[in-house]
Amino acid sequence: MTKVNILRMLPSVDEILKSEALEALRDALPAVRIKNSIREALTELRAEYVEKQNDPEFIPYDQDTIQARVLSRILADHETSLKRVINATGTVIHTNLGRSLLPDIVKDALLDAAFAFNNLEYDLNTGARGSRYTHLENTIRELTGAEDVLVVNNNAAAVMLALNTMVSGKEAIISRGELVEIGGSFRVPEVLKLSGGLLREVGTTNKTHLWDYEEALCDETGIILKVHTSNYHIIGFTESVDTKDLCKLAHSKGLPVVEDLGSGLFVDLSQYGLTYEPTVKDTLAKGVDVVTFSGDKLLGGPQAGIIVGKKKYIAPMKKNQLTRALRVDKMTIAALEATLRLYLDEERAMMQVPTMRMITRTLEELSERAEVLYRNLLRKCKTAHLDVVDCVSLVGGGSLPQQELPSRAVTIAPMNGSLNDFERRMRTGKYHVIGSIHKERFVIDVRTLLDQDMEKVVDAVKLALKDRG
Ligand SMILES: *Cc1c(COP(=O)(O)O)cnc(C)c1O
Repeated sequence: MTKVNILRMLPSVDEILKSEALEALRDALPAVRIKNSIREALTELRAEYVEKQNDPEFIPYDQDTIQARVLSRILADHETSLKRVINATGTVIHTNLGRSLLPDIVKDALLDAAFAFNNLEYDLNTGARGSRYTHLENTIRELTGAEDVLVVNNNAAAVMLALNTMVSGKEAIISRGELVEIGGSFRVPEVLKLSGGLLREVGTTNKTHLWDYEEALCDETGIILKVHTSNYHIIGFTESVDTKDLCKLAHSKGLPVVEDLGSGLFVDLSQYGLTYEPTVKDTLAKGVDVVTFSGDKLLGGPQAGIIVGKKKYIAPMKKNQLTRALRVDKMTIAALEATLRLYLDEERAMMQVPTMRMITRTLEELSERAEVLYRNLLRKCKTAHLDVVDCVSLVGGGSLPQQELPSRAVTIAPMNGSLNDFERRMRTGKYHVIGSIHKERFVIDVRTLLDQDMEKVVDAVKLALKDRG
């Protein structure tokens, strides 16, 4: 068949638009959107026909197939862009997959905040205007022992606001070993510059001594800045200054110490067999004047940047014009308040905050989950080699970079077709299962699977194995 001939066999946009198969969609979706999708589906089909025109075995599609193709294109085009995915990577705080999951208990608070009026900036006792920040103050003060609190959009904003308020036009002294870059191009020197402060680097990449800081102190000094190197470790011939000593030095000159802690923590994780990471409370207790940290890393709450510390430094931040630009909305406040209240009872927090729960899952529990998944897959998926293996999950989010979490995974090797195609179908299919490929196997680390994901994963594997093409 010649190119012109087979292309003529495709229906027109109008023909498809009028077809019975589209009747229900015509009422549900805007006509322009439908037409665009039809046009694009036809363009795809045309390209396919052209590609196959010299293939003697090629038979042009029948009307039903063409209609099904168009229909699925319309539905796909109309899907929301932000989609639910299944995290089978084992990385608990996965920035690309939405970081922390909120505790179940937050649901009611979120619904109320979204669908009813509230006292966001209204003092119910006086009947006068209130502040949105009061809702979080008491709980955060109780959890950290801080004098004062401010919450902004994220930790990057918190650092920016603290620096802009405290060092503008002056110098921030920082160790060369702490000039870090966090994912998403957050670089300490750039942030400092943007906030109007001047960088005064001291020491070297691997070693900084107290006298390095001492020598740099001068009339131009505004603060001493510490950045918790949360996403990497320098090992070997290293030395850094004890925070307590640094605070003593700064305070003897009447200067404050600010620490960007990155991931905030209210719980000492060493009790659960994990590497000790400084908690917010411990950091303040060492004498640090202002500490900033994220709401949605190890804390397991909504995206937020929390600033805690001495009132004399935080009060001016509240008056800074930037605060208005960086402020949190009512949904964040509702979710953060409900999450933080869980931490007042550590045991409850460990059980109910998904981030905490996932990083402290025992190998025994993980083995059991992997076994259940393996057996269900074995029963329903006949065209794949399945195994249960040991693996290592990560905490993620630039937190605890050296912490290896021993875990269990189900691995899949499809008998037909390529592994890469299988991985793509898992990712783009109905359930969007995001796993990893290791040693020629698709790996599903069960640590980050939710209870309700277990059946969906089986279904997804079944679909991905069958649906070849
Ligand atoms: C993650 C991180 C940030 C940025 O926090 P966001 O909440 O993602 O804005 C800043 N500093 C450190 C040390 C971090 O680990």
